[in-house]
Amino acid sequence: MSLLVVGSVAFDALESPYGKVDWTLGGAATYFAVAASFFAPVSLVAVVGEDFTAKDEAIFKGRHIDTEGLERVPGKSFFWAGKYSENLNERVTLATDLNVFAGFQPKLPEKYRASKYVFLANIAPDLQRDVLHQVKGTPKLAALDTMNYWIERTNSELRETLKHVDILMINDSETRQLSNEHNLMRAAKHIFKMGPSTLVVKRGEYGAMMVDKRGVFCVPAFPLEEPHDPTGAGDSFAGGFMGYLAAAKNLSDATLRKAMVYGSVLGSFTVEKFGLDRLRVLKRSEIHARARHFAKLTQFKL
Ligand code: AMP
Repeated sequence: MSLLVVGSVAFDALESPYGKVDWTLGGAATYFAVAASFFAPVSLVAVVGEDFTAKDEAIFKGRHIDTEGLERVPGKSFFWAGKYSENLNERVTLATDLNVFAGFQPKLPEKYRASKYVFLANIAPDLQRDVLHQVKGTPKLAALDTMNYWIERTNSELRETLKHVDILMINDSETRQLSNEHNLMRAAKHIFKMGPSTLVVKRGEYGAMMVDKRGVFCVPAFPLEEPHDPTGAGDSFAGGFMGYLAAAKNLSDATLRKAMVYGSVLGSFTVEKFGLDRLRVLKRSEIHARARHFAKLTQFKL
């Protein structure tokens, strides 16, 4: 079933203890779309500037990603620069230049409006809401990601958008910041009052945790010997998670748990190389082999 995503398609400058790149294709929606397209067809809504070339767009070609909703306008594409700490767990944002996203008014192509699975990737909350409102009827599942940048600058818009989504997928520090609660279980209760009925907390090298009224499920991060660049791991996690759900067509507890594992699988591949380098060459067979590895990792007898 088709999966709609709105979010940033960007250029990034990245620095980690393993190296530095000054200009590479990135953006939350880019990582999400590529990761999700291993499971289900994706419809992309975003805006890029004149610096976005056919070579950049090639990442979406030959995959099940519809780019009719990728608008091109005069100006520069979204630009983000980040630097990671020695242990890759912390990062500092060095630049966030919204550029063409500042004046973006998304307009869904008619064929996107029937989407039943919607992912509002990290971008201004009013743009996320605008896209959601253009979808016909109520989607089967709407999930949202955001980050400190939007929590701090557009808190009331974000809270308005949250009223309309089923799943909130954010990292641990964002969960604490949004809920004003240090304990993640208590934070989940606060967040449920804001609208979402499920919280997925992405915790970097500590894996991810899903909380809903049925209970809690935790998945580890894949133990990598040589992680290089965590950029986009969260978006790739979301892509694996939502892509798996869109393909499974049911939202049972068992399906959601498997989606968490596939999210973790996609996130782990992204971290292996800089930017989108690992996802570009990833094969379906590698995804399923790593999912089986996860089953072994977490198996035990009582
Ligand atoms: P992640 O590492 O999963 O949090 O996502 C990193 C990607 O998000 C990068 O490729 C950036 O281009 C993009 N990004 C960073 N800051 C923002 C922001 N404020 N809004 C939208 N996208 C962003």
